[in-house]
Parts: sequence; C-alpha cells; structure tokens
Amino acid sequence: MRNENCIFCKIAAGEIPSATLYEDEDFRVFLDLGPANDGHALIIPKEHYANLLELPEELCGKAMVIAKKLAKRLKDFTGADGVNIVNNNGEAAGQSVFHFHVHVIPRWKNDGKFPLWIPGELTDEVRDKLVEEFKKNPLV
Ligand code: AMP
Repeated sequence: MRNENCIFCKIAAGEIPSATLYEDEDFRVFLDLGPANDGHALIIPKEHYANLLELPEELCGKAMVIAKKLAKRLKDFTGADGVNIVNNNGEAAGQSVFHFHVHVIPRWKNDGKFPLWIPGELTDEVRDKLVEEFKKNPLV
C-alpha cells in the first residue's frame, strides 16, 4: 500500500535519499531534516498508513520496539540526558506529514526545546465522565 503523493512513501522506498540509520522489511529509520536536537530521528513504516489510528496492531508493537532500541542507542551515542518519543496524529495535534511516524528526540538538560503542553487541571466532571465511559466500554 502506497500513496503516490506521499514524501515518506518515497523515502521509505529509497526513491528520495535519506540519512538512514536502520531498515528492515517493515520500517525505515532516518534523520529528521528539521531536527529539534542532534540525533532527532524518524521511524516510518514502509507501507502507507496516515497515522497511528490506521496502523495495524502488529506494526504498532514493532514500531515501539524499534523506538525503544533507537532511544537507547541515540542516548548512549550522543550523551543525551533523556529522550522524547513523540507521535502526532492529525493536523490539530501538530502532524504535518500524513504518513505515520514516530519522532525519537535526544534531550539535554535545559536545552530549552519544548514542553509539549502547559499543564492544566483535571476537573471532577471530566474525570468522572471519562472513567465512567471506559468502565462501560472497556478499551480491550
Ligand atoms: P510531524 O510534524 O509530526 O508530521 O513531523 C514531520 C517531520 O518530518 C518534521 O519534523 C520534518 O522536519 C520532517 N521531514 C519532512 N520532510 C522530511 C524529509 N524529506 N526528510 C527528513 N525529514 C523530513
């Protein structure tokens, strides 16, 4: 499955060059061209899925294993203090390339890059509504 207009499909297929760190039959890992920090890498499936919600579950598991191993290697190699694993789904959530990808971003103390959100407050009303909903309709 492939989308002719998708830049990550072309990178996945090797038709557009990328600084590839890892590749297997299902995934390619390459350096982000607009990195938040040195070592910022992207994990993409070779097949086209717009986002996590469309990704088959077996590939979700595989992507997370690659993210874990990559996070460890990048942290060790760059000497980073921490690593963010980020996945944006939908324009409202900051997704700009609509082919599922996971960002693996080495972080240094006080690198000033981002808090991903400004903490708010969990209200009783919202808490009760969500807990009730998930009790009624279990996730798995
Ligand atoms: P997102 O905003 O989560 O969709 O992230 C898309 C990411 O893809 C951004 O961090 C871009 O810098 C990166 N990006 C876009 N085009 C390329 C490319 N040709 N090679 C490497 N990274 C890219």
